Amino acid sequence: MKISPEIRNMVPYKPGKPISETQREYGLKTVYKLASNENPLGPSPKALAAVQNALQHQQLYPDASQYELLHTISKVWNFPVEQLALGNGSDELIDLLTRIFCEPGEGVLTSQAGFAAYKVSAQANRATIYEVPHTKDFGFDLNAIADFYEKNAAKIRIIFVANPNNPTGTYANQTEVESFLERVGNKEDVVVIFDEAYNEFVRAKDYVSAQKYLSKYKNLIVLRTFSKIYGLAGFRVGAMIAPKEVIEVYNRVRKPFNVNDLAQVAANAALQDEEFIQRSQQICWKALDYFYKKLEELGLPYIPSQGNFVMFDTLRDAAKVNEALLRRGIIMRPLLNYGFKTHLRLSVGLEHENEAAFKALAEVLKEVPPL
Ligand SMILES: *Cc1c(COP(=O)(O)O)cnc(C)c1O
Repeated sequence: MKISPEIRNMVPYKPGKPISETQREYGLKTVYKLASNENPLGPSPKALAAVQNALQHQQLYPDASQYELLHTISKVWNFPVEQLALGNGSDELIDLLTRIFCEPGEGVLTSQAGFAAYKVSAQANRATIYEVPHTKDFGFDLNAIADFYEKNAAKIRIIFVANPNNPTGTYANQTEVESFLERVGNKEDVVVIFDEAYNEFVRAKDYVSAQKYLSKYKNLIVLRTFSKIYGLAGFRVGAMIAPKEVIEVYNRVRKPFNVNDLAQVAANAALQDEEFIQRSQQICWKALDYFYKKLEELGLPYIPSQGNFVMFDTLRDAAKVNEALLRRGIIMRPLLNYGFKTHLRLSVGLEHENEAAFKALAEVLKEVPPL
């Protein structure tokens, strides 16, 4: 067999450790997973009720035109259906957009601290990934990214900006987004993709969704997901708001049944569950404030977050801290694949989960020596 070298050398995306695996490996009954930025409240109850009903007709193929969900999104987000498309999670959107815009060897540009899926998708599609160093505060360095783009425009086809970013929780404010788009917007041979998976969790007053600039810049794409605040990560639904031409091409490339029926039904109901969204925000913000307080008590530096998670510095070998936490039934997220050797990422949970996480962390800090 001959496997293409780009594929052979791929480093796979490493998801958060599943609860069942942790239970098996460590012989534990109670395990809390605070590792994948999921919604600790579960799915929206409206979504669950809708899915119950839809179980009856699962002998049928899903609606390939995704009519209901696209029309609900259109109403709620206020964009014409022609500017909307869906993916099997935003993961699929990231992958197919890379396939659409990059010839083999062409470039995908992002931040060193940017969401890992951009790199995996670039490699899988034989594109070349360019990662600009993050700012000293661990944020996307949009100026440096624009500089890099201007020097290398001939080979860059996609710029990915996660705003807010995962795993750092950092964000670019309105002024930064606007000056960035002034430099990279409306360029011929590059698309600028703003991944806004955590949009609904943002508390910063000077944040702006790139949605606002879609009419001004013709090479701008915005990604959203149902995996985070809507609590539907298991269903796999992501959405894209983009120029019509992009949507048309995307719909030719995607599989007709990429979003299954239950997922469409669940997302459609969750979108209209305003009460659940507000409750999820409140839970997140309260948990983050608790995290900050606890981390300060423990003397561990952290990055203030606009997501539903916080990245903090254990000041120790994070792999060892993580292992000791797993033994106590707490799953956090190590970030070695980003080159962060002493940091962990902790997702917001329910109150008792958050408390258990910090009880375990306090014990572990005494067990694992500081570097
Ligand atoms: C979680 C996350 C997503 C969502 O991925 P899905 O495939 O929709 O579950 C996208 N982008 C970022 C930055 C994320 O953290």
